[in-house]
Amino acid sequence: MTETSTLPTVDRAGPRQTRPRRLVAELIAGRTGHFTAADLAADAQGRGLPLGRATIFRTLELLLGGGALERIDLPDGSHAYVECAPSHHHHAVCSRCGSVVDFDDAELAAVVRAVARRTGFRIDSHRLELFGLCPACQAGERSAG
Ligand SMILES: [Zn+2]
Ligand SMILES: [Zn+2]
Ligand SMILES: [Zn+2]
Repeated sequence: MTETSTLPTVDRAGPRQTRPRRLVAELIAGRTGHFTAADLAADAQGRGLPLGRATIFRTLELLLGGGALERIDLPDGSHAYVECAPSHHHHAVCSRCGSVVDFDDAELAAVVRAVARRTGFRIDSHRLELFGLCPACQAGERSAG
């Protein structure tokens, strides 16, 4: 008996899939605010991790499908990802530093109901992203004069 490892058995579903996924999850954890596949590729390169951009992109799409990530459409037409709770919510996104704050439907539910009444639509889903300057960036702007 030479087997002394006490580690649990590696995920049988796909050890080859698990590693890039874990590495990408680590890269995401090291970020604040939203990020792109290119951002993560640069992080991976900086840390000497063996992760190509295609692998990162595939992994991001997987995480997106699993509800751990959401895609944000930025005002300039580009896309970014943000780590997210799977429950329905919205984002306020800082246009300068990219920080993201979640908010829920509290006030919005009434707006959606009013629009449904006015248009006769049965509203099944909606998306809302708000863009502006976060408190920290506003403070920076004021102190910069
Ligand atoms: Zn979110
Ligand atoms: Zn900001
Ligand atoms: Zn909503």
